[in-house]
Amino acid sequence: MQKVFIDEYAGKVRLVKRVGTRRLSLRVSPKGGVTVTLPYFVPYREGLEFFMAKRDWVLKAQARQKERTGNEYVSSASEIEALRVQAKTELPPRLAELARKYGFHYNQVRIKHNSSNWGSCSAKGNINLNLNLVRIPAELRDYVMLHELCHLRYLNHGPEFHALLEHVCPGHRDLQQRLKMHKLI
Ligand SMILES: [Zn+2]
Repeated sequence: MQKVFIDEYAGKVRLVKRVGTRRLSLRVSPKGGVTVTLPYFVPYREGLEFFMAKRDWVLKAQARQKERTGNEYVSSASEIEALRVQAKTELPPRLAELARKYGFHYNQVRIKHNSSNWGSCSAKGNINLNLNLVRIPAELRDYVMLHELCHLRYLNHGPEFHALLEHVCPGHRDLQQRLKMHKLI
């Protein structure tokens, strides 16, 4: 049995009655929710009063938890869809432009969402680009595209591949290092 109370600042407070519990207790979860567990025979009103008495402590605990998780990027499905729309609009024209400029011929380009690579190139000349590319600086985006375009000639990371990539994308090893600071979501 439970009741939910919404506190203006602390958010959702669940009052949960539990058989076998003899004391009132309070827990703040990392996602911000507050749970007050109370013995079965204790009225909900008392659970709420218990929360009110500890409200300041709860707000401080929530602020601390928010600080800890604030840097983690949590992506939602709608956010990914927005990136996909942007990626489909922006990435293929840029790939075509770079290919034209340096004389590369690819078969198809597809926009993908995965957490394993920024891009890939198949032996059939198909290029996949990760929709995350629209989140990073333009020079890194171009580096990834040029990297995949160079794979149209060399399907490995040998010296010839790197020489070609350096020719079309000077300083590519620095860009490669900078790219590592960005995370795929
Ligand atoms: Zn590669």
